[in-house]
Amino acid sequence: MTGPLRVGDCLCSRLIQVNALHRYRDVVATGPTSPKIFAVLDDEENFLGMVDERQAALFPSRIFADLIVRRVPAPVLATDSLEQALARLEHEKADYLPVVDQDGKMLGAISHSSLVVGLLQAERATLEERESLINQLEAELNHHRIAASVFDTTSEGILVTDAKASIVLVNRAFENVTGYRFEEVRGHRPALLQSGIHDTEFYAKFWSALQDKGAWQGEIWNKRKNGETYPEWLHVNAVRDTSGVTTHYVGIFSDISAHKEVQERLHQMAYFDNLTGLPNRQLFLDRLERVIARCQRNETGVSLLFIDLDRFKNINDSLGHGFGDQVLIQAANKMREIIRDADTIARLGGDEFTILIEDGGNEQAAEKVASKVIETLGDHFSIAGREVFVSASIGISRYPTDGTDAESLLKNADLAMYQAKESGRSVYQFFKPDMNEKLTERFDLEDGIRHGIDKNQFWLAYQPQLRLSDGQVTGVEVLLRWQHPEMGEIPPAKFIPIAEDCGLINMLGQWVVRRAAEQISELEGLVEKHDFRLAVNFSPAQLAEKTIEEIISAIQLCQKSAVVELEITESTLMTGDKLALGFFEALAHAGVQVSVDDFGTGYSNLANLRRLPIHRLKVDRSFVQDLESDEASRQIVTAIINMAHCLGMKVVAEGVETSGQAQILGGLDCDEVQGYLYSRPLPMDQFHTFLKRHGH
Ligand code: C2E
Ligand code: CA
Ligand code: CA
Repeated sequence: MTGPLRVGDCLCSRLIQVNALHRYRDVVATGPTSPKIFAVLDDEENFLGMVDERQAALFPSRIFADLIVRRVPAPVLATDSLEQALARLEHEKADYLPVVDQDGKMLGAISHSSLVVGLLQAERATLEERESLINQLEAELNHHRIAASVFDTTSEGILVTDAKASIVLVNRAFENVTGYRFEEVRGHRPALLQSGIHDTEFYAKFWSALQDKGAWQGEIWNKRKNGETYPEWLHVNAVRDTSGVTTHYVGIFSDISAHKEVQERLHQMAYFDNLTGLPNRQLFLDRLERVIARCQRNETGVSLLFIDLDRFKNINDSLGHGFGDQVLIQAANKMREIIRDADTIARLGGDEFTILIEDGGNEQAAEKVASKVIETLGDHFSIAGREVFVSASIGISRYPTDGTDAESLLKNADLAMYQAKESGRSVYQFFKPDMNEKLTERFDLEDGIRHGIDKNQFWLAYQPQLRLSDGQVTGVEVLLRWQHPEMGEIPPAKFIPIAEDCGLINMLGQWVVRRAAEQISELEGLVEKHDFRLAVNFSPAQLAEKTIEEIISAIQLCQKSAVVELEITESTLMTGDKLALGFFEALAHAGVQVSVDDFGTGYSNLANLRRLPIHRLKVDRSFVQDLESDEASRQIVTAIINMAHCLGMKVVAEGVETSGQAQILGGLDCDEVQGYLYSRPLPMDQFHTFLKRHGH
């Protein structure tokens, strides 16, 4: 081997490169049988990111571009040293780093395990090389010819002594490693290099092996001229003449201090998560397998909780990765506190955690831990003087009912977790056999949304908002509708959360605003531009740096015909993060109004309410519904209206269905109303008619 191992020697063998527009489904149909990680490239072969197989297999019909969750790590050079690469892996807490050549062309990727494999292979290669070197030297020494070239070109240190163990020759590598020049050691015994670390017994064994077998190899600590001790891998052979008398000893060694250090760090990393200190996926799987084996013997059970933080990507995107890391650390600590010593908690990667409960497969015990986890994580997190709210969704699988091996237990807990997310987040779900089908249905919906826009399956409904005092139509809320060719009308409550999860909400949100701009212009002459509001729903998932400008420019198209108001839920308003604050400033600057949707159902921080440029509160339908029958609801609505008026905001009550409700709202001084009592959401032409009937 020449020179130390480089990053380029340790590429992941499990990596395949895929085009960003391809889908896992199609890639596995044609590609190698068991790829484990995908490098996603665009058409120009630019590297976009990594996707691991588990994630890809969960969403077989998504394009790879949509599967990338981590920011793209900067590449390492193939010629970088392993220490450099390792430092990057540790520092960035990355599972993989892309590797490029001098020209920036992608060669592959490295991971902790590919580094280990590279090192092990190199070590094996070195051993073989050493073996052949010795054979070669032996032959040459026997002929009393020592080829200087072999000596000086190898990176292994070589030292030759006579039969009395006096040094007769060393090569350049010896000089480099030990710091001694040949002249300084000639005629001395190799004991000159002894570190003092090994006892006399060690050297006694060494010499007896040389005498009996004619050879010794092993790790030995020596001392350089500068006093520094270091480990080397040494291989010594006795050279005998034809009559069997030892004439020389040849020692060949390499300095393995660098390897050793790397190996130790790799070992630690191989089993523990760097960020949280929790066991990692590997260690967790090991333990799970052991627990399963024990359960099998004792005929008992175990429960596996798969925990995934909700909308963690939003936190990362809006508050930065450093902040996201702190959230993960706190989440890990909070969970660690509530489980028993006997249970195992691990971080599988990203925002995914697992807990293994040795509860004998008792459903109630697993339920108890799951609700405790949801409860503790639901408490606010306080990080760097800022409060954030985190929630988690949990899937539970049990041995032996839901699987009898580690892989299937994990997979089924994961499936159950997806189901938990779907049924509204911040809940837990036990695995059920039909979940697989449901997941497929969900992927079909995702694909459906993607194509639905191109195929004109979406349309907009308009629901009027009226002033209570005089019945004047003051605005309209735009509501998205999806007419699916086979499944019929799909309600937004079903497809909006999916679009939010898979990132399609940006595309949909854009479409809504642009389409509304076209349609609202048809109202020219019927409404007064400065006196008529177009209310558009805005999802928190649309709050990403690069889409904000696009949204505002689309909104400006609507502003030609109406005042635009964005309906935003409390949680988005209350994050208080920089991105959101910047967005609100930009909205105010563009003359866009803001209303708080579903008010009363989330957390509100009054200080934020006052600080933000909010024009309107929309009292949630659930309070309006109970106005006539429930005193508490009436009091809540009264309080909301009074508070809003004190803060200079207007109040819209939504979901007004009866004249009784309208009457009470009037008495409470509510400003505006919206609901079936006045009109259902209407297609544009019918809304047109509605306006005319109401004196426009
Ligand atoms: P939302 O913003 O709270 O919208 C009001 C919902 O209440 C609408 O349901 C509307 O049809 C319904 N509604 C209005 N008046 C009454 C009433 O008197 N009684 C009852 N029972 N319901 C009434 P819809 O259209 O099914 O929308 C559901 C949710 O989907 C919306 O809740 C909103 O969060 C979301 N959504 C709809 N369109 C969009 C959109 O373009 N973008 C985004 N991000 N979300 C949307
Ligand atoms: Ca709304
Ligand atoms: Ca609402």
